[in-house]
Amino acid sequence: MLFDSHTHLNNETYTTREREELAAAIEASPVSYVVDVGFDLESSALALSHAKKYPWCWAAAGCHPHSVREMDEDALAMLKSLAKNGKVVAIGEIGLDYNRGRSDSEQQQYWFKKQLRLALEMGKPIIVHDREAGEDVLRILKEEGVFSERRISRFPENPKTRAKDARLLLHCYSGDAEQALRYIKLGATISIAGPVTYKNARKTVEVVEAAPIEHLLVETDAPYLTPEPLRGRPNASPFVEYTARKVAAIKEITYEEAARATCENAKRFFGIE
Ligand SMILES: [Zn+2]
Repeated sequence: MLFDSHTHLNNETYTTREREELAAAIEASPVSYVVDVGFDLESSALALSHAKKYPWCWAAAGCHPHSVREMDEDALAMLKSLAKNGKVVAIGEIGLDYNRGRSDSEQQQYWFKKQLRLALEMGKPIIVHDREAGEDVLRILKEEGVFSERRISRFPENPKTRAKDARLLLHCYSGDAEQALRYIKLGATISIAGPVTYKNARKTVEVVEAAPIEHLLVETDAPYLTPEPLRGRPNASPFVEYTARKVAAIKEITYEEAARATCENAKRFFGIE
């Protein structure tokens, strides 16, 4: 039983045939659930069509910071109408990406805020993409009230730890352990991706060591970030197993325990029965 909390069956490079093969591979694997995560309007609509087609697939609707140039009020209204569907379990992926000193940071922040407000208004979980923008991401999340009493009170506290839950997921977390613990204290959940299996993963290994398992999910971000030992080929949801095995090794628990815990955490986070 595995839950890939972040995949892209909606990736624009796939043919319909390749998507069917990927779906068949998921059905033949221990992966029981995936969230197909939108990165613009079109991919969000495609994610929802996959979620309607496959019982193990859920969708997230949102515009990635790299795609915000395409955003306008009409597109935001369309994302909202997609998100009204019960199979859309989150707003995302949204956030900031300052990699290579992108010049559109103001535009990114504008649409990050707008989409956060949509998630708050709808009471939806949020999937955040943060790359080299840690300070601005945290500041905006706080300013917009993602960790406010009002938001937190909409969701039950974590039943295992009694911690507050803001239904805010940091996808492919790449910050350090100290920041991860600060986020968890605020009510966030951390998702660990394939890079934790890489040789230079010390920082992310420390995150897994420090964070209680009740606050961790695993993901692929397929077709990107293929874990070891398969690095070099395109990623796919079944390979989330390698990330879960690495989490188990770091936590000194069995693979089965890590798989079950991260799956239960993800189901609770996204509100999936
Ligand atoms: Zn992604």
